[in-house]
Amino acid sequence: MHIILLGPPGVGKGTLAGSLAKKFGIPKISTGDIFREAVQRNTGLGKKAKAFMGKGALVPDEIVIGIVDERLQKKDCRNGFILDGFPRTIKQAEALGRITGIDAVLNLKSEDNVIIKRVSSRRVCEKCQSGFNITSLKPKKSGICDKCSGRLIQREDDKPETVKKRLEVYRRETTPLMQYYEEKKLLKNINAEKSIEEVFEDAVKAMSSS
Ligand code: AMP
Repeated sequence: MHIILLGPPGVGKGTLAGSLAKKFGIPKISTGDIFREAVQRNTGLGKKAKAFMGKGALVPDEIVIGIVDERLQKKDCRNGFILDGFPRTIKQAEALGRITGIDAVLNLKSEDNVIIKRVSSRRVCEKCQSGFNITSLKPKKSGICDKCSGRLIQREDDKPETVKKRLEVYRRETTPLMQYYEEKKLLKNINAEKSIEEVFEDAVKAMSSS
C-alpha cells in the first residue's frame, strides 16, 4: 500500500499517518520529522534545513527528493509506506512518480481558523517526535511524552507568525498537487475537522476503495 497524505500544516497528517502505519504495519515517513531530527543532532542536513524551516519556507526540492528516494529503498518499505509531508511541490511529485507508484492520496481538508487553533495547542516530544495536542490528544502526564517520557515542547515553527507563512507556502506550492493527483484519479478528499477517530475511519474506508 503506497499512500500519500496531503493537507495544510496542523491538519492532523502526522497523527493519522501514525495510526494508519500501525494498522497496516507499514512505516510512516515524515520528511518534517527527518529534518527535525537532523536539526536536533546538528548534522550537515540539519544545518542546511534549519534556515528554511525557521522561516516557514520549504527545504529545496533536490535535498528532500534525495532523502525520500534513499528512505524508500529501505527494506521496511517493501510492503508499503505512508508519506506524511511529501510531496509538497509538483517537482517532488514528479520525482516520486519516477521512484515508485502510488495507490491513493488522502487529502485532509480543514478551514484555516480550525488549523490555527489546532496548531497553537500542538506539542511534540523533543526526544521521539511523537505528536500531542493539549486539547484533543492530551498526554497522560502534562508536558511528558507517553511513549518515551521525553519533554513536550511547542515547535519553533508552530508560533503564529510562522504558521501564517507556512499556510501561504502551502497554498502556493502544495495545493496544485490536488489537481495533479485528481487527474491521476488518486485523490480522496477527507474532512479533517471531524474527530481523530472519525478521520481515521474515513481514511481506512478511502484506502480500501482505492
Ligand atoms: P512538517 O512537519 O511536515 O510541517 O515540516 C516542517 C518543515 O520541514 C516544513 O515547514 C519545511 O520547512 C520542511 N519540510 C518538510 N517536508 C518538506 C518537503 N516535502 N519539502 C520541503 N520542505 C519540507
